[in-house]
Amino acid sequence: MVLEKKLADADVSEEDQNNLLKFLEKKETEYMRLQRHKIGVEDFELLTIIGKGAFGEVRICREKTTGQVYAMKKLKKSEMLRRGQVEHVKAERNLLAEVDSNCIVKLYFSFQDDDFLYLIMEYLPGGDMMTLLMRKDILSDDEARFYVAETVLAIESIHRHNYIHRDIKPDNLLLDRYGHLRLSDFGLCKPLDCSTLQEQDFSGANINEGTENDERSAAPKRTQQEQLEHWQKNRRMLAYSTVGTPDYIAPEVLLKKGYGMECDWWSLGAIMFEMLVGYPPFYSDDPMTTCRKIVNWKNHLKFPEEANLSSEAQDLINKLLCNVNQRLGSNGADEIKAHPWFEGVDWDRIYQMDAAFIPEVNDELDTQNFEKFDESENPVRKPSSKSGPWRKMLSSKDLNFVGYTYKNFEIVNDYAVPGMSMLLSPLYLPSYVHRQTWYWFHNHV
Ligand code: ADP
Ligand code: MG
Repeated sequence: MVLEKKLADADVSEEDQNNLLKFLEKKETEYMRLQRHKIGVEDFELLTIIGKGAFGEVRICREKTTGQVYAMKKLKKSEMLRRGQVEHVKAERNLLAEVDSNCIVKLYFSFQDDDFLYLIMEYLPGGDMMTLLMRKDILSDDEARFYVAETVLAIESIHRHNYIHRDIKPDNLLLDRYGHLRLSDFGLCKPLDCSTLQEQDFSGANINEGTENDERSAAPKRTQQEQLEHWQKNRRMLAYSTVGTPDYIAPEVLLKKGYGMECDWWSLGAIMFEMLVGYPPFYSDDPMTTCRKIVNWKNHLKFPEEANLSSEAQDLINKLLCNVNQRLGSNGADEIKAHPWFEGVDWDRIYQMDAAFIPEVNDELDTQNFEKFDESENPVRKPSSKSGPWRKMLSSKDLNFVGYTYKNFEIVNDYAVPGMSMLLSPLYLPSYVHRQTWYWFHNHV
């Protein structure tokens, strides 16, 4: 009734009004169906692998009853236990689900069986920023501005919920159907173990790395082009290694000295550098050297002349890759947004404008924007009778572990289903509902 009343007063054509109501009724039916059904891995047809990570794999899948396509992230419980990540995952996942934003990947369902946790997310067919950067080498100032601006909004939206990502890097920036950016991979980060590094490693005699005579640091000896090729050769290997790449991690995180939200703005600076230069600012042949360079950033942050960065771009990067107390963003995202490099960015409307690149996506199962992964290396665990017992085993504690007991999820029949708001993702609009009408609905109802 509220909607009908608002629609009557709004500037929406009668046809659009009817289409919107029809769509919402359909969603309501879907919602009721979900409330009656406990979802498990056997409800999905498993399709192409699009990502592999430390805890498991990501693949597209199709929900058998609705035909809806999602991305399924499968996390091996034993691996999470072994790495002592369970508490970490719990706390951070809880926070994630509170953030309902255009800039964050949406999570629809979660469930588990004996061995795995499953996260069913929206499938973002545009690929990830790492793949885009590898295909494009470098971005123009305008292209970089678009992605950096959307990353600013994404980081801002998680910080508003007092959440720190700590693992912002191009592989965790995904692109939707229209080329707009979404942040993903929360709390399941792969922290590099730098516990063997001491602060004294970074001061005094040991900090000669990267200086003219230093043997270990190859970076200054390479041209920008050589460094780029070297980086690209190693990039995927680093991404899929169990430790992950440290290239975007802030010095205070590496030093384990205590850190705050500013560390995500450092990562933004490193990503912006990579977009404009071709490789991240502290890239080195081995991850430990990268860590050393990061902590000793004052001696290592250099802009190659060939890259021809504008003075505004350099200034912004310098203000992000610096000590915490001087770092832009320490007093909120607004001070970053106000930087001259962003001049002309319409912060309120950027998500509604055309993206810097519109990804080519031919159908809902198209995975051309992802790398190809070999199925045989990681045989698919077929849903068998073994996947049944999870239902019996779900205690309320387990439920909490998969953890969606808040705003966007509801506990129904002792199980978590997405709340109505989660079903209304703008991504899955049928063609008969206009995007403009949809934005109106989100803004007014
Ligand atoms: P990890 O913890 O292993 O880094 P991620 O959640 O970052 O796991 O997923 C690994 C990769 O899988 C991503 O870099 C991306 O390429 C792909 N991926 C993950 N989630 C999605 C999604 N919802 N839609 C499309 N691709 C995804
Ligand atoms: Mg990741």
